[in-house]
Amino acid sequence: MQRKNTLSVLTLMKEERGRLSAGIFLAILCSALSFVPYFVIYQMILSLIRQTLSFSNALFWAMVAVVAAVLQNVLLSCATICTHTAAFNTMHRLKLRVLEHLSRLNLGFFHDHAPGRLKGALFDDIGRLEDFIAHNTIELAQAIVVPVLLFLLLLFLQPVMALCMLIPAVLGIALPMAMMRRYPDLTNEYAKTMSELSGSVNEFVSCMPIIKMYGLTAEKFKKYSSAALAYTGCLKKMAGCSCRPIAITIVILDSGILFTLPIGGLLYLNGGLTAEVFLLFILLTMCFYSAFFSLLNIMMGHMELESGLASIKEILNTQPICGGDKKLPKTGSYEVRFDDVCFGYDRDRQALSHVSLTLNPGTLTAFVGPSGAGKTTAAQLIGRYWDTDSGTISIGGVPLQDIDSESLMDLTAFVFQDVFLMEDTLFENIRMGSNATEEQVIAAAKAAQIDDFICTLPQGYQTRIGDKGVKLSGGQQQRIAIARAILKDAPIVIFDEATSYSDIENEHKIQLALQSLLKGKTTIMIAHRLHTIRNADNIVVFDAGQIVEQGRHEDLVAAGGIYSHMWKAYLGKEAV
Ligand code: ADP
Repeated sequence: MQRKNTLSVLTLMKEERGRLSAGIFLAILCSALSFVPYFVIYQMILSLIRQTLSFSNALFWAMVAVVAAVLQNVLLSCATICTHTAAFNTMHRLKLRVLEHLSRLNLGFFHDHAPGRLKGALFDDIGRLEDFIAHNTIELAQAIVVPVLLFLLLLFLQPVMALCMLIPAVLGIALPMAMMRRYPDLTNEYAKTMSELSGSVNEFVSCMPIIKMYGLTAEKFKKYSSAALAYTGCLKKMAGCSCRPIAITIVILDSGILFTLPIGGLLYLNGGLTAEVFLLFILLTMCFYSAFFSLLNIMMGHMELESGLASIKEILNTQPICGGDKKLPKTGSYEVRFDDVCFGYDRDRQALSHVSLTLNPGTLTAFVGPSGAGKTTAAQLIGRYWDTDSGTISIGGVPLQDIDSESLMDLTAFVFQDVFLMEDTLFENIRMGSNATEEQVIAAAKAAQIDDFICTLPQGYQTRIGDKGVKLSGGQQQRIAIARAILKDAPIVIFDEATSYSDIENEHKIQLALQSLLKGKTTIMIAHRLHTIRNADNIVVFDAGQIVEQGRHEDLVAAGGIYSHMWKAYLGKEAV
């Protein structure tokens, strides 16, 4: 059982404690220097009152103020360099951790979490750390140290006055905090609506061809407009919840001096306070109260950040696929077995129900049946895209859960209808991060019947695919995927035969490519065009998540069951 992840800003910052401590220390020195101008003003006024102010005296104090300002600037720059470096390192580390974790999750997770939402978590939520760690740590150090030092100094000079000064500060923080009890809930809602919004924007952009075809605008695209509405609504609620308390804080802290002045005046008249100390109190009170205002801002920022991290916590707390420790050699030939397998994407509907099946080593098994019958699901379960609800799938007699995750990946090669191509060169798209040599990549492309086409391109294998590069037809994409699978040379191949690329030339090339790919492998072919699997060793007919028939083509046709009807219908369609 994986331990729950108690990710918080503080735990993340721990790993950068060296840099952060340095940044905070420098920020505290900087804060100490920020008293110097007040002290200089105090000295000047004192000299004025005592009529001892001379040019050299004034120049000296002016120089002190300038040196302090320059030093303050240097220290603050060094502090921000430390905290920014710490922030970027923390973000980098967290992004890597999340990406690494994502790569170990099963596909079900990605089905429930749209790419836009994941991108939002990775960039927006983690991005907010920068502001907090790089800026707020310094502000926080200053917001704590400045009032504490001032308070101790003033307490030493005149305890009654110092204690009275605390009253507006405490009120200025406590009142808004009491009034903003709903704020943490709203920040959670904000993080959620923000993630929904980035998910729908992503979907809106990626569905642009359909959106254009049906003349949809951003407003008419329901998912986007309601996400945008919820987001704006949440922002309004947050503003509604925080505006009044913040205004109250501003008024209390800004007018705090009006509270301390009469008390100081009374003490002065009673002889409890000298004129100079009274003057110092007036000067330092302004500095004292402004620190509390920063404190409130930082507290609100921290709440927003912690809510944003909730989505990261959810990702990190999702159980990854746990593989066993059995490694099966890639060079073997394996039997694949389904024993009473049941599986549903959601609780109330089973996509596969009590499926038992044996795929003999090195044979070709075809999965046929109507759309939604469960063929793709059954094939994907072999790669542990999801785990079965009950029953076992085994390779070479070893249950999938006992096989080491990497070994399982090595054992299986999937070629699906929707081919994922990276925005990279054709060479890298075939090589897919393996350390295959150029000769091996070219040999795979030749076997997959795509080398001829690649050689006609001016930059050959170095041609880029994607937005700024060449666009491939469906058939070409599928042959790239076949080349990848040939290069991978896995003993188990799962091939989803596409229907959309059925022009004669493509079909012929794909058949040739398949001959290279499937030689000696345990193969599953999800078949749409039945003539392509007439020679399969076993044809398995799925219907409503169950196996309803299986056998060789001739036997199934002769049996007069579902397959024979499908075959007749198929022949009729082909004849048209
Ligand atoms: P086939 O490959 O035979 O067309 P599938 O295995 O894709 O069928 O689907 C089997 C059932 O599971 C269908 O009812 C389908 O709607 C459902 N299904 C497929 N993929 C998902 C998914 N990612 N989430 C929820 N339901 C799914």
